[in-house]
Amino acid sequence: MTTTTTQERIAIANPYIGTEEKAAVEDVLESGSLASGEVVEQFESEFAAFNHSAHGIATSNGTTALHAALEAAGIGEGDRVLTTPFTFIATANAIRFTGAEPVFADIDPQTYNLDPQSVETTIQSLDGGVDALLVVHLYGQPASMEQLTAIASQYDIPVIEDAAQAHGATYHGQPVGSLGDVGCFSFYPTKNMTTGEGGMVVTDDDEIAARARQFIDHGRSDRYEHERLGHNFRMTNIAAAIGRTQLQRLPLFVHERRQNAMELYDGLRDCSFTLPKESPRTTHAYHQFTIRSNRRDALKTHLDEFGIDSGVYYPKPVHKQPAYSHLSVNAPVAEKAASEVLSVPVHPQLSDEELHTVITALEYFDSYL
Ligand SMILES: *Cc1c(COP(=O)(O)O)cnc(C)c1O
Repeated sequence: MTTTTTQERIAIANPYIGTEEKAAVEDVLESGSLASGEVVEQFESEFAAFNHSAHGIATSNGTTALHAALEAAGIGEGDRVLTTPFTFIATANAIRFTGAEPVFADIDPQTYNLDPQSVETTIQSLDGGVDALLVVHLYGQPASMEQLTAIASQYDIPVIEDAAQAHGATYHGQPVGSLGDVGCFSFYPTKNMTTGEGGMVVTDDDEIAARARQFIDHGRSDRYEHERLGHNFRMTNIAAAIGRTQLQRLPLFVHERRQNAMELYDGLRDCSFTLPKESPRTTHAYHQFTIRSNRRDALKTHLDEFGIDSGVYYPKPVHKQPAYSHLSVNAPVAEKAASEVLSVPVHPQLSDEELHTVITALEYFDSYL
């Protein structure tokens, strides 16, 4: 049966590609220089400057950015890297690709980011501690970096930031990705800005930058000089051309996400759902607007019937995935969150009417269902 209505569903993400992106890609196609070249270098320095970092190393995606950053920070076989179990699987996979093993601490129930107290007790419980901290700024909300970097310096271990969801977020005025030793971004289409597929490593550390750059380019130190083993994790000029234009738009994208979030807070203030909590002195980039309900699955079905897409990020913490069944982990806060969180549309392309529909549908469920 076909439906009679032409009304479109309200999507959870809707990447914006304008005429400028198309023109920039066409310029690259006409230049004939399609792989990594000058446009990538321009994007790297522009993104690094935006991020208050000395170096930017563009990569093929966010996962390879994480892999390169960990490797460049000296992580390898036999090491342990502490991270959050409440993240996209790529965070933990990148640790394992280096030969290291992930160790999971629990999260804070309000911010969904690593709980510094749990990080501290987890490190203390391990003979030999951990070799690095991989911090995720989940949903675009900066993690508690002051406490986490203090713990890291106490144990003299590097801090790697997974800022794949947090382009444009700030912590005490500083952009995320510039707060630890090395930061990583993803430019997948659903993220705050896109290059199709793509990623970026940012750092102030010259040595980490040099190692990351070698690692993503066959371990190359000169054209046919290969100092160490490396991958081809390079970005293309085509992707970088999209990225340069998207970077120009990023401040507006984040502004619009934040405005939509304020509308949602306002419209839902009398509902019983737990709303996101924006930490003081941070700018949440609202990659997701994630609410919490103990009737999450029914709520998701209701929104679906209303023509509204929503997302569960993530239905299973990493340590509950079959690929991680060899680890024994105690993270009850993350496990409970995984059963209750629901992200509703907040992306910059939402119209006022669509935002209103989202609020109305949520209010209706809360009042009558
Ligand atoms: C998207 C994402 C990644 C991986 O990025 P890709 O570009 O998809 O490889 C890593 N970590 C987090 C938290 C992400 O959201």
